[in-house]
Amino acid sequence: MSPTDVFHLIIPRSWVRSPPALPYKIPDNGVSDFYSLGDQRASLPKVVPRLDQSQVVIRMLNRTPPSAIRRQLRREVGFGCPARDCGIPYLTWHHFDPPWRDRQHHEPEGMIALCLLHAGQADAGAFTKERLQELKRKAPENAEEIRGELTWMRREVLALVGGNWYFDTPTILQVGNTSAIAFDRDADGYLLLNLRFPSPTGMPRVRIVENFFTVNPDQVDDVACAARGRTIQIDYANGDRFSHQYRDIRDQNALLERYGLYIGGPIPDQIRFPLTVVEVSERTQGILDFDAHQTWIGGMRMTRSWSISNHVGVMIGATREQERVWFP
Ligand SMILES: [Zn+2]
Repeated sequence: MSPTDVFHLIIPRSWVRSPPALPYKIPDNGVSDFYSLGDQRASLPKVVPRLDQSQVVIRMLNRTPPSAIRRQLRREVGFGCPARDCGIPYLTWHHFDPPWRDRQHHEPEGMIALCLLHAGQADAGAFTKERLQELKRKAPENAEEIRGELTWMRREVLALVGGNWYFDTPTILQVGNTSAIAFDRDADGYLLLNLRFPSPTGMPRVRIVENFFTVNPDQVDDVACAARGRTIQIDYANGDRFSHQYRDIRDQNALLERYGLYIGGPIPDQIRFPLTVVEVSERTQGILDFDAHQTWIGGMRMTRSWSISNHVGVMIGATREQERVWFP
């Protein structure tokens, strides 16, 4: 549970005037029926008996809105922070009408998606209510290409791609002459991801070059980048999906606990802990399907294999024409 979680206690107004004996203090300045109970949540019972012997249920409202509202707020801003010249796709949710401190709510008309920097500035009052409403209305016109950077830098990663493991394997997937999933290193030895997402239609899809990603907004249904940079998920209108996620793993037990289903046998000796797992899955209808559990290419299914210290993990043949359409 994060420190931003807030419990809401729905109480009768009469309690404000003459509070019953409760294991916490009811603010005496309150006129709303909602109270933030802060640190006292641990000692809070789920159901509180009322003076009239009926009961009040305590509900928890998390500051993170439900997924449908998050999607609506992302779409509204064209999947990037709408503050001037920003466009960062790692978004958080700013409540401004009314502000969260005045009333906890998830009403999308009083909320806007912003990057962490601009959300912090908005919390401090940098943007007026009118300005935020303008940004909500104008943002879609500004939406062009969505750009961002993968900021988790590591010298070694264990990649889980389509249900199979790749370690010290610079090219994970090669299609014809195209490196579709591959790592480079920067001058300091940190791994940089390069990725071309095959397109069934010849329209450009997500592309990652040395950790910088660009997403053409055509046919995009949703681009969800977690504000702290750990996950990215892109959904296309035809059901295609790309997702990418980092996870730090402290030891062998933690790896087994998290990924036991995907580990076919003993963990190879070359794998040292702690390590960072990068999970990549991509689904392109009719071309390939690297889902969370397995890899499907044509009629072939591959799962729970380990590719260690190979130059190329998986190589798929493709004609020049296929390559031209799949990787525009
Ligand atoms: Zn921003």
